Formats: sequence, structure tokens, C-alpha cells
Amino acid sequence: MLDGQVLVDPTDAQIVHAWGIPTSLAEGERDFDVLVVGAGPAGLAAAVYASSEGLKSLIVERESIGGQAGASSLIRNYLGFSRGLSGAELAQRGYQQAWVFGASFLLTRQVTAIRRDADRFALSIDDVVGEVTARTVLLAAGVSYRRLNIPELEALSGAGVFYGASVSEAQAMTGRCAVVIGGGNSAGQAALHLARYAQRVLLVVRAPALSQGMSDYLSTELESAPGVEIRTGAEIVAGGGTGRLEHVVVRDRASGSNTTVDADGLFVMIGAQPHTQWLPDEVRRDSGGFLAVGADVGGEGWPLERAPLPYETSLPGLFAVGDVRSGSVKRVASAVGEGSVVVSQLHGYLQDPAQRDGKPRESAAGTVPRT
Ligand SMILES: Cc1cc2nc3c(=O)[nH]c(=O)nc-3n(C[C@H](O)[C@H](O)[C@H](O)COP(=O)(O)OP(=O)(O)OC[C@H]3O[C@@H](n4cnc5c(N)ncnc54)[C@H](O)[C@@H]3O)c2cc1C
Repeated sequence: MLDGQVLVDPTDAQIVHAWGIPTSLAEGERDFDVLVVGAGPAGLAAAVYASSEGLKSLIVERESIGGQAGASSLIRNYLGFSRGLSGAELAQRGYQQAWVFGASFLLTRQVTAIRRDADRFALSIDDVVGEVTARTVLLAAGVSYRRLNIPELEALSGAGVFYGASVSEAQAMTGRCAVVIGGGNSAGQAALHLARYAQRVLLVVRAPALSQGMSDYLSTELESAPGVEIRTGAEIVAGGGTGRLEHVVVRDRASGSNTTVDADGLFVMIGAQPHTQWLPDEVRRDSGGFLAVGADVGGEGWPLERAPLPYETSLPGLFAVGDVRSGSVKRVASAVGEGSVVVSQLHGYLQDPAQRDGKPRESAAGTVPRT
């Protein structure tokens, strides 16, 4: 390693630590103005703006910086980078920028619990003894896409196999064969978008009919779209290529018969799971587990007389941005944008006691427990 030390079978945390990246908190550093959960594009943008504007900030990331974007070999639709840039480079630049402004980072550590403690939040972080406190918390915890778990296709992730919409890959499909897996609206929209460029788009749906998971207008449009073939009651069971995806194997679920299909791009859209399971029940989520914010949390359950701020969750002082937010756009630029603008709401919350403490609503069904 850098200092000549040899690590035998090291953990991720040991490797990161050996590179001089912080995996533990400095002595006495236990209380922050803002604690950001997740160092994907949204969390990194918040880290840059919060620390550059004088907020004492801690960013906790359970894996590595960059989040999903860090897994993208070439982001083609980020403003100002006409030739694209790698997600890892974007993340590294964001990390350095935030660090220069004085943000603290804790990598390979996961936030596991949060509770209100008087005028602060108290958070548990794995492998950190005791609790860390913060006056505001920003959830930028993102999502994971459900994986195919087919080893030969996992090996081609980023080399023709893409999780999520990856719409910026659509142009690269010009004149080529694209396969989309998924029966929801996002899969339908991706198939239509790809059909504008690709020579042929095959939509593979497990359910026996499109109507089981897709809006009527979308399935009607797909059924008449030129160049789009739909196979319902089917699934992808294998695939491969030399260094890049070249084909997939589609199985008909009823007959069990397999067909090999040419494929230059495979877009897997079989569900996104937001990282919100660890949050307490008071934090309102939609049916998919995504966090409700702003106007969506008003009404019963919101404990204060003032209205929630635009990115504030149902727990006053707890904010959410990026892919983890209900209704988010799921792009690098929107995550960066939300992570940047939420900082002005954090300032507002911290500076204005009326916003911070607010008057409890007489009629609130359940006020937030304060210990
Ligand atoms: C392969 C791939 C390619 C893509 N390509 C493009 C593209 O070209 N253009 C584009 O615009 N978009 C692209 N996207 C989408 C884009 O990457 C996401 O919209 C964006 O990364 C969302 O940012 P985020 O910060 O909200 O969440 P994420 O990127 O998901 O980051 C969330 C982070 O939070 C961490 N975390 C979660 N829970 C905890 C916890 N409890 N404690 C600590 N840390 C936690 C996670 O480990 C993760 O690092 C791509 C996505 C993928 C998967």
C-alpha cells in the first residue's frame, strides 16, 4: 500500500483506510449541522454546497463514493461533457471538491438507525461506537435495481447490459438490436424511446399480458410501434458475448423453449428498491418505499402548523433528495440539482426557529416522538 504495508485478505474498510480515506470519525467530532446519508451524485452535491456555505457536514457512505453513477463507465448526458465522463471521475471530483471545502466523510460505513433527540437527530452508524448527532439529516440514499443474477450477464454489466433507464445509451443503439426486460411503465417508456434509434427493440415481459403492469395508453402505443416486438410470458435466462453483449436467450415460460436473439443492448428494468427500510415508521413512504417530501407529506401525520419545506420528509428536519425521493427523475443531473438546492432549505430550517421547531399542529394524528 502507500506506506509499504502489506494487507492480507483486507476488508473494503481496510483498503479504503490504507488509501488515506476516512473510515472513522476524528476524536471529538460527534455533532454536525447536517449529516448526509449516501455519497452518490445527490449526496456529493449536497456535501459541496453545504460545506462551501459554512455548514459543518458529515457524509456517510456504506460502499464507495459515486453511488449508481460510480458504476457508469460513460455518462453521456451530463451538461458540459459532450464526450461524456466516467461516473467514477465525476464522483472523485465531487469528493475532492467537498473535502477542500471542509466536509467530513465516513466511507464503508452504513447509517442503520435515526431518532429525534431534543433539537437534534441521533444516528447509529455501524462500526462507530455511540451515536452521532446532527441538527438536520439529508437522505440521499438512492436505490438498487433488482439484478438478473445471471452470472454471464452480470459480467457484461456496463458492456451492453444496463440496469435502469440508461436513456443516454439510446443513441448508441442506432441501427442495433436492443432488448428491454420489464413489464412496468418505465420499461414501456424505455422501449419506445429506444425504438427511435434501434433497428429492432424486443420487450420481454414475464407476465402473460402487458396490461398486468403497464398503463393502457403505453401498451397500445407499444403494440403499434414500428420495430418493437413484445414477448409476454417470457424471461431472459442466459446471454453472452466477447467483451460485450452480443446475444441473449429468451425462454417462453409456458413451453420452456429457448430462443437465442441478437442483442447489442440489454436494459433491465425489473424494479428499483429504495434504501429506506431502516427508517422509522413516521417517515412517510409511497407504495414502492420511496420517500414522500414537501406537499406530499402535508395533511394528517405532518406534526407542525407550518407546511413542510419542498424536500422535507414527514419528520421535520429530515430531508430527502435524488433517486430515493418519490417521483424523482433518476438521472445524475437531477440528483446533483436536488442535492444542491436542498441546501438553501437546510439553511432556512437551521436559521429560522419558526421553521425548525414550529408550532405543533393541534390536529396532527401522531406527533413525532421526541426523546
Ligand atoms: C449503470 C448505471 C448507469 C447510469 N447511467 C446514467 C447516465 O448515463 N446518465 C444519467 O443521467 N443517469 C444515469 N444513471 C442513473 C444515475 O446514476 C442515478 O440517477 C443517480 O446516481 C442517483 O443519484 P443518488 O445520489 O440519488 O443515488 P445513488 O447514486 O443511488 O447513491 C446513493 C448512495 O447512498 C448509499 N447508501 C444507501 N443507503 C445508505 C446507508 N444507510 N448508509 C450509508 N450509505 C447509504 C449507497 O451506497 C449509494 O452510494 C445510471 C445508473 C446506473 C445504475
